[in-house]
Amino acid sequence: MSARIKTKNVIVEMDGDEMTRVMWKMVKEKLLDPFIAINAEYYDLGLANRDITGDKVTFDAAHAAKKHGVAVKCATITPNAERVVEYTLKKEWNSPNGTIRAILDGTVFRCPILTSNIRPTVATWTKPIVVGRHAYGDVYKNTEYRIEGPGTASLVFTDASGSELSRQTIHEFTGPGIVQGIHNVDSSITAFARACFEFALEKKIDLWFGAKDTISKTYDGRFKAIFEQTYSREYREKFQSAGIGFSYTLIDDTIARIMRSEGGMLWACKNYDGDVFSDMVASSFGSLAMMTSVLVSPGGQMEFEAAHGTVQRHYYKHLKGEKTSTNSMALIFAWTGALRKRGTLDGTPEVVAFADALEKASIVTIEEGLMTGDLAKLSSPPPKKVCGTEEFIDEIARTLEKIRS
Ligand code: NAP
Ligand code: MG
Repeated sequence: MSARIKTKNVIVEMDGDEMTRVMWKMVKEKLLDPFIAINAEYYDLGLANRDITGDKVTFDAAHAAKKHGVAVKCATITPNAERVVEYTLKKEWNSPNGTIRAILDGTVFRCPILTSNIRPTVATWTKPIVVGRHAYGDVYKNTEYRIEGPGTASLVFTDASGSELSRQTIHEFTGPGIVQGIHNVDSSITAFARACFEFALEKKIDLWFGAKDTISKTYDGRFKAIFEQTYSREYREKFQSAGIGFSYTLIDDTIARIMRSEGGMLWACKNYDGDVFSDMVASSFGSLAMMTSVLVSPGGQMEFEAAHGTVQRHYYKHLKGEKTSTNSMALIFAWTGALRKRGTLDGTPEVVAFADALEKASIVTIEEGLMTGDLAKLSSPPPKKVCGTEEFIDEIARTLEKIRS
């Protein structure tokens, strides 16, 4: 075996929950530690530790990511009422991803991992569809209120000097109901637009953006205006010389065009659209476990993770001692993404080469017919072996040894 490679500057490591926490440990033990010494700053974002620290650990991890520029995150539980009981929590802590996104003010890009033997469900999608998700505001930073009886809900804005500039009635309630306030800021929408234009240029792919400005003339209208202004002021010429395009359409029309397309574009989505449609795109390209995710901040900081959650159902099987077949691909690609970025920033090509080799070993393993259950039913030709969670990681380790020797 060749000598262990070393990373130079810090990678911020955020551990998580359930099945992904189990796989996190395996990936480190079997695919990373034997080959590479990683200078990691570890934060335990597991729910138990978030509860003990009053969620301080999440804020500390996000600030560390901002400081060091490269982070890798395991999936984490966003607690709901059931989880509060399950983990005897002090409170229903906020989504860690929401907290991290608010601090980094970034854009999330999700890109499927393609292998030659897994065909997309949408047969026309022969190229990857990258989904760019605005990761600030809207319903993820909402204020909501349960209305118990008749009354008036209003939208009020008071300027910094204390004068009320606007008051509009949202609804005159005659009985119980609900109300919600959401916001966004020009600076974040502009940063989102720029991140998307830059990402499309880097990947040399078209950029599509859709919103609902016919219904939401001010809110979604502002998104549309900022994209169009940023494009014509800063990117039109660069796009023309790169031979790529930008188009804005109503979100429903965007969906219809995406479904009929061959893929190969960056699809810029508002926060909620990105949350929902990235899962749709991921499931067409195989499995949620084949979708990678990177949060890119305007300062260039990057946080890498898998797009899927903690795979709760598999974890409960694992706890009962039953065999699981959970796919670790996106989790592995989160680590390789972070290593490649770290290596590029640090000028350590051996680290970049290791990231490339580990990705290649992972893809080759699947293309040789060794895969987890989620992919088995999609594979053509059928798999040679359906692997258990740990077994799949062991197979990748074997392929990696072969590639490196
Ligand atoms: P999930 O973890 O994404 O899993 C949903 C289903 O997708 C699984 O039950 C499984 O289907 C399939 N799946 C996802 N990842 C897979 C993998 N790596 N290998 C094989 N199959 C995979 O969503 P969830 O179970 O609804 O959510 C669990 C927890 O995750 C929640 O507490 C939620 O708060 C959290 N979450 C965290 C993040 C994040 O940190 N980024 C994102 C989303 C959700 P089958 O059961 O059919 O096999
Ligand atoms: Mg989602």
